Amino acid sequence: MTVITDALCPLCGCMCDDITVVVEDNKITEVKHACKLGAAKIMGHDRIKAPMMRTDKNSDFKEVSYEEAIDAAARILAGSKRPLLYGWASALCEVHKKGILLTEELGGIIDNTASVCHGPSALAVHEKGLPSSTLGQIKNRADVVVFWGSNPAHAHPRHMGRYSVFARGFFSEKGRKGRKVIVVDVRKTDTARIADEYIQVQYGSDYLVISALRAILAGHADVVPDTVGGVPKEQLVKLVDTLKTAKFGAVFFGMGLTQSKARYKNIDNAISLTTELNSFTKFVIMPMRGHYNVTGFGQVCTWETGFVTAVDFSRGAPYYNPGETAANDVLARKEIDAAMIIAGDAGAHFPANSVRYLARIPVVQVDPYWNPTTEIANIVIPTAICGIEVEGTGYRMDGVSLRYRKMIEPVHPTDIEVLDRILERVRELRGE
Ligand code: SF4
Repeated sequence: MTVITDALCPLCGCMCDDITVVVEDNKITEVKHACKLGAAKIMGHDRIKAPMMRTDKNSDFKEVSYEEAIDAAARILAGSKRPLLYGWASALCEVHKKGILLTEELGGIIDNTASVCHGPSALAVHEKGLPSSTLGQIKNRADVVVFWGSNPAHAHPRHMGRYSVFARGFFSEKGRKGRKVIVVDVRKTDTARIADEYIQVQYGSDYLVISALRAILAGHADVVPDTVGGVPKEQLVKLVDTLKTAKFGAVFFGMGLTQSKARYKNIDNAISLTTELNSFTKFVIMPMRGHYNVTGFGQVCTWETGFVTAVDFSRGAPYYNPGETAANDVLARKEIDAAMIIAGDAGAHFPANSVRYLARIPVVQVDPYWNPTTEIANIVIPTAICGIEVEGTGYRMDGVSLRYRKMIEPVHPTDIEVLDRILERVRELRGE
């Protein structure tokens, strides 16, 4: 029996690094300290046992060898005029690097799951920058915490305990008692139930509410109407007072802000509000990233191509224009003639029309798990689980890079091995 301590959880952007894992005969038999979501992933479930292929989408899968599946996948990708390589967020940075190399070789488009979650945040950061910090600074210093359009009680179960609400830090030794917690959301979430103040905004009016807060902060409360986005003016004035008088404030925003009306402009406005609060006190803002290494893909893609995601290599050089080159843009225009979905689940998260279109074109899935994308795939190549069966680098939601150790030996090849073999076969097929 082996006991691994201080292991990292490979599920959400919190990347909790205090997990204990018990291993017996190369099997994980116990997980301590992880939340239910993380423990379920580490203990393992719904694995795809062997590579599978089918001739058309209505027929049943037949198990094949890795050689056959990789050869067929390479033929699809090499023969494609405009392939999309999408997903990546549940894989390590070393996998991202290989994926970008393969996409460049194919002249395809690479995009990651941020496309349907925090992609708008990236656009806002281009325009305004990001006055942010590490989660450690927030744990040690924050006395006012705002969750805007995010619900960590469900999506990041240990966030509040480890970093933001209940955690005791160097200058925040009282933990929860020393913090004011505010939730801004369209509905009373479970996070709102434990907050000191809940501010209910009408759906799609976040931009207006943030603008009103900025006006009040700038001393122009007189121009703010009696109600903004369903929030009474008195509540907005009180909120500005709380934010201004914080010793150290932090805003955590989620998809309630990035994917509601105004999208990236909501984030742009929230960043401006945070910047302006720094005229009065210290304030930071941070996106609540979902998949554990979605932040890592942005890092690798930026240092490899100059752009954070949605990169089109068809011109022979990286080209980036979300709204034109993101996964759902090219799917909506029916431009793509083949797709590889890896370490992400387009079948579960894309709009219905995109999924319908994916169901009509050849799709290669590379993933340890059976998920809705499997249902629309022609070829399925199972791989070892990054962060559990493969070591490598991940980036936490605050941009801190941490190293995952291998917990058990894999029985499947790694994503890197599969991508290397596809790349090699693509080059052979193209006579390079
Ligand atoms: S909060 Fe996230 S990283 Fe931490 S144990 Fe749960 S799923 Fe894993």
